[in-house]
Amino acid sequence: MKARISEIFDSVQGEGLYLGEKQIFVRFFNCNLSCTYCDTKPDRFMEYEPQELFEEIKLYRDKYHSVSFTGGEPLLYKDFLKEILELTSGHGHKHYLETNGTLFFELEDIIDRIDIVAMDLKFPSSSGMGNLWNMHRKFLKVAVQKEVFLKAIICQATLEEDLRQAIDLIRDVSPSSVLVLQPNSYENQLVLNEKLSQFKEIAIQGKVTTCVIPQIHKIMGLK
Ligand code: SF4
Repeated sequence: MKARISEIFDSVQGEGLYLGEKQIFVRFFNCNLSCTYCDTKPDRFMEYEPQELFEEIKLYRDKYHSVSFTGGEPLLYKDFLKEILELTSGHGHKHYLETNGTLFFELEDIIDRIDIVAMDLKFPSSSGMGNLWNMHRKFLKVAVQKEVFLKAIICQATLEEDLRQAIDLIRDVSPSSVLVLQPNSYENQLVLNEKLSQFKEIAIQGKVTTCVIPQIHKIMGLK
């Protein structure tokens, strides 16, 4: 069984609650979505068997917080993930899954081997992806078995009603999870700041813990 992998590298996590943690990144090729703000559409990949990927991961010998399985969408390779997660957990690695939060059947199959789920919420008004709330709800119901936090890109076009949907979802399914609001790095930050303050206030009133964390890797030019 092979998976298409765009790149393997080590760096620091550039977003979310584990910002700054050193990780080994495995970026899977391809995605089931097509967000308007997507900046990870590589055109090259190499094919790996699980054992081949494991051998490459073993070459990284520093102390790492975890292995980040990212994309694209890593859950497109669920059967491959099952095998590689078994190999890397035997080697003492923690597993951090970065996902768009839609492939809930696939997550069910591997959740027992995941430590942290960094789950996107695709706000329709930000991502241009239409209504994914039902898929996000089903996904979060599985993810909540483990540590999970949520991330949403906020653009000038983002509507308050999407934030309110997110608040309802988190309160219903995983009330202790944190929602990270990420300003779209390609838009005017001054304009976005006003919206972010307003959204944070709405989230506080909705009793969902929320923080604003920019995508630092983009600002710093990190991978
Ligand atoms: S889910 Fe992520 S990788 Fe997939 S299209 Fe959207 S931004 Fe790009």
